[in-house]
Amino acid sequence: MTMGKIKDLMRKSWLLKTFLRARWPVKQQLIKGFLQRKKYYPKESVNADIKNLINCMLCPNMCRFDCPAVQASKKETHAPATKARIGYYLEMNRLEKIPENILPLFEGCVHCSGCQVHCPFDFAVGDLLEGVAVDLFSKQQLPQSIMTFSERISKNNGLYPTEKYQQAYNALSPLSEGDIYYFPGCVTMGNNTKVISGIAKIANKVNRSLISKPQERWCCGAPLMYAGDLEKAKELAEHNKAHFQSLDIKTIICECPECTYMLREKYKQLGYDLKIPVLHVSEWLASLLAEGALEIQNGEKETFFVNNLPIGFHDPCVLARKLGVLDPPRELLMAMFPNSLREVPYSREITHCCGFGGLVNIANSEIANQMAQNRLAEFKKAEIKTIVTSCPTCYYSFMKNNTELQFEIFDLVEAVAALIQ
Ligand code: SF4
Ligand code: SF4
Repeated sequence: MTMGKIKDLMRKSWLLKTFLRARWPVKQQLIKGFLQRKKYYPKESVNADIKNLINCMLCPNMCRFDCPAVQASKKETHAPATKARIGYYLEMNRLEKIPENILPLFEGCVHCSGCQVHCPFDFAVGDLLEGVAVDLFSKQQLPQSIMTFSERISKNNGLYPTEKYQQAYNALSPLSEGDIYYFPGCVTMGNNTKVISGIAKIANKVNRSLISKPQERWCCGAPLMYAGDLEKAKELAEHNKAHFQSLDIKTIICECPECTYMLREKYKQLGYDLKIPVLHVSEWLASLLAEGALEIQNGEKETFFVNNLPIGFHDPCVLARKLGVLDPPRELLMAMFPNSLREVPYSREITHCCGFGGLVNIANSEIANQMAQNRLAEFKKAEIKTIVTSCPTCYYSFMKNNTELQFEIFDLVEAVAALIQ
């Protein structure tokens, strides 16, 4: 028996104790339920993890208190166990498949894995809902906003039409050869080319040759996983794998945590193991710093920063919880702001989402923006003046919701590029 199995049994030992303590009629009911358990499963084969949807929906919502979606929307249909219940009932055809019933699964979950931190069963409700989305997608039962969004990605093989990437193509043109491949994310290419220029500048300063072929690479596929279009996500993965294999590369770096997670972990699950190390840019930069190749100056006395301290780091959910990358961004920030880096109360593994995870912004932008404002309020309470993050989606969300311009907001790459020596 594996260690994982033993741990799992120990974790569930309370179930046996509870069963033994129960009165006989209750025991009879439990035994009957166990023997007839097949009737609680759909007859046809489905993608959803029905067993764990049931386990989660029977829970008294123990992680609800820390779910950013329910905090922002204040709708009980967005509570973690309730979404599992809705997902289960949809799978069992016990809920009519109309937008009002399906929407909570999309507008009410940022796939932040915040629930997993508190869950005694180690569930991330967002992950459980991915399988439900695949089943709904295969029957074309998704809300119109999600269908339109996934059709757009399928058509462009990216989040945006290629015309929106022209500036990014120009910024990436110096990265023409090398054995480190820079995989630019769609959100960065479409919205924040300062990060791309920053990576090009840093690579030049530290004498590392990077290659990037933005017109040949396709979207990593993460948004389609949330939309349930598994087949198209696989097609993108297959294309990207073939693209990487056509080049003589040893490492891939991504500035987007979603891309990093897809390329590093999800491609394996989809059957497209890249067999090439995939690093988030913060890991790459921190390794350069550790080996002495990257020199960055103290930014605390720089005219711009001096009036905008302290600095706080927003851990993107995917980077912190799904990839476990917590220290590399801090090592870089400590090199730049050793006396003025302040932790926001919810940071590292217990970070709160920026609001734009999953497809919440597509399904209901009001809820996404409310989540962003809730997160910004936490920085305000900590009296942080500059927010640094390391995810293009978090950056986009905070810039959009920094309506009173109370914060300076940077991507980590921008800060390093500004202070590199
Ligand atoms: S994720 Fe875990 S803690 Fe949260 S409702 Fe489901 S079973 Fe309960
Ligand atoms: S993944 Fe995040 S948004 Fe979704 S249920 Fe869990 S805590 Fe809530």
